[in-house]
Amino acid sequence: AGGRGGDGTPLVALTIAGSDSCGGAGVQADLRTFAAHGLHGASVITAVTAQNTVGVRLVRAMTADVVTAQLDAVLADLPVAVVKIGMLASGEIGRVLAHRAAAGVLPPFVLDPVLVSSSGARLGSAESVTRLLPYARVLTPNRAEAGALLGRPVRTSAEASAAARELAALGPAAVVVTGGDAVGAPVDNLWTTGVGGRAFAGQRVATRNTHGTGCTFASALAARLALGDDIPTAVGAARLFVARALAGACGWQLGAGHGPLDQ
Ligand code: PLP
Repeated sequence: AGGRGGDGTPLVALTIAGSDSCGGAGVQADLRTFAAHGLHGASVITAVTAQNTVGVRLVRAMTADVVTAQLDAVLADLPVAVVKIGMLASGEIGRVLAHRAAAGVLPPFVLDPVLVSSSGARLGSAESVTRLLPYARVLTPNRAEAGALLGRPVRTSAEASAAARELAALGPAAVVVTGGDAVGAPVDNLWTTGVGGRAFAGQRVATRNTHGTGCTFASALAARLALGDDIPTAVGAARLFVARALAGACGWQLGAGHGPLDQ
């Protein structure tokens, strides 16, 4: 795989996210995605969730000191090339991460604004995401999350394009509003500061195994950035990675609900 030194040493990617006990989303999806890109994955766990393919049964946020202890241990020792931030779990965790980002000690990060699970469980707040936004390299909301961050519905590709531009004005170098949660053919809308807007159209994969799609997209994007892609190239590659992961698992029968992807 790419990015390795002459002695085979891989690049390091770090996920700061929640644990998903059924292994479909969150930290587990991120680590598989990093591995598929030839990266070594480190993890900072923000919350433990008890969930399966049907739904979330319990969410327990880690205290902020547990999160910062994990983060400081990793950053003190490993050369982290890129970070993916997902579920923030509490306002306190959002605040300590924003403090680290403001101090310049967080490597470049992709921010996936995880707010609510598909099954309706609350996983994070728009306020915490907004606090980290000024420091993010790329923000990856789906249309529902973009709407929650802006306080108005984001339904069409035109609305998603405007939303990406508006959210990019709050700090990130780029915003990609994904369209997998809308009906019809999925269109992702990217706004890159200094470059402009771009829409990526794709074909919908017919499957109920969609658990972890957002996490996988954000961590694939982070992996591609670590490997040296520019942002539009990384977005294109991450979309392809998710489409292949969806297609690979579309015939799987794992659990009674939304099963995992084939990263
Ligand atoms: N659980 C954890 C820990 C997550 O990080 C996420 C997503 O981003 C989810 C659940 C939600 O996954 P889904 O919406 O695919 O059910």
